[in-house]
Amino acid sequence: MADQDHYQVLGVSREATPEEIKKAYRRLARELHPDVNPGEEAAERFKQVTHAYDVLSDPQQRERYDMGGDNPFGGGAAGFGGFGDIFETFFGGGGGARAARPRSRRERGQDALVRVTLQLADVVFGVHRDLDVDTAVLCETCEGSCCQPGTSPVTCDICQGTGHVQRTVRSLLGNVVTSAPCGTCQGYGTTIPYPCAECHGQGRVRSRRTVGVDIPAGVETGLRLQMPGSGEVGPAGGPNGDLYIEVNVASHEVFSRDGDDLLATLEVSMPDAVLGTTAQIDALDGKVELEVRPGVQSGDVLTIKGRGVTPLRGSTRGDLRVGVHVVTPTKLDHKSRQLIEDFARRNKGPGPQLAQFRQGLFAKLRDRFRGE
Ligand code: ZN
Repeated sequence: MADQDHYQVLGVSREATPEEIKKAYRRLARELHPDVNPGEEAAERFKQVTHAYDVLSDPQQRERYDMGGDNPFGGGAAGFGGFGDIFETFFGGGGGARAARPRSRRERGQDALVRVTLQLADVVFGVHRDLDVDTAVLCETCEGSCCQPGTSPVTCDICQGTGHVQRTVRSLLGNVVTSAPCGTCQGYGTTIPYPCAECHGQGRVRSRRTVGVDIPAGVETGLRLQMPGSGEVGPAGGPNGDLYIEVNVASHEVFSRDGDDLLATLEVSMPDAVLGTTAQIDALDGKVELEVRPGVQSGDVLTIKGRGVTPLRGSTRGDLRVGVHVVTPTKLDHKSRQLIEDFARRNKGPGPQLAQFRQGLFAKLRDRFRGE
């Protein structure tokens, strides 16, 4: 039978629409179904028809078949759960078979949100955190079945397990039969005579658990990390929702962040600014030596390459940019004052008439930090 043309089996053209294919299959299945038409020949044809429909009703499989691809099921009606499924799909429940199915108690759990505050140092390299998450977990007593151990749900008497009850409503067009969820079983099709005492028949309990999370470097305040499947378990042991971790980065008293760069200000004494010095800086990841050249000015920005933040995507760290602030002495002893006065006489400046404001220092510093 594997060589039989699926289109011929269903009696449709190769250009048949999905609707036509479905129609042809319905007609043949109704005619050949073993419940209706016992006998080996009918059973064999039913299998062929079913298999042909299986392939041609799936757009991907149909395309593969049209292109001469091999038979994904290797012949036979494998891939179906049995004739019952097919029959139910098409003829069960009096039209709209799907709608007549009882709904499942199992549902996906909700997403959970946890906020975490990080120090700037955590952001430079990333950090591992164990977070306490207060959420729903599977009930260990009933393992999500919602029933007391040793008991199980029973078919609802009112809806006979369909989850729906039919009501006949009089309307202008005559009597109309409508289907509504069964009030007795809430549409589940079953009731639970002995609910699990531990979870009150919910299949899950609230619990505080610890979730270990590796927070990558380069995260910023407001960023949310998603951990799929780490949220709360669903009702009746349904799949877990996701866990979101919202990041808040605490401000640091020395360093601030500008993209992948870190910014800091270095105070340099007036003599050091004049003569140059080597400054020791406590960076977030240890000490760095910074050469301050003679004659450095307030507002100059010195860059230490590769001592900034590791970006969220990528591995090349940003820079540490240090703005220089020259500290003018405010108290001078007699000797120092004489030396400065001596220095001033030897280096007569342009005079006060030319010492105009050229550019505010703050503006200058800001512009330097912006990389101008
Ligand atoms: Zn339980």
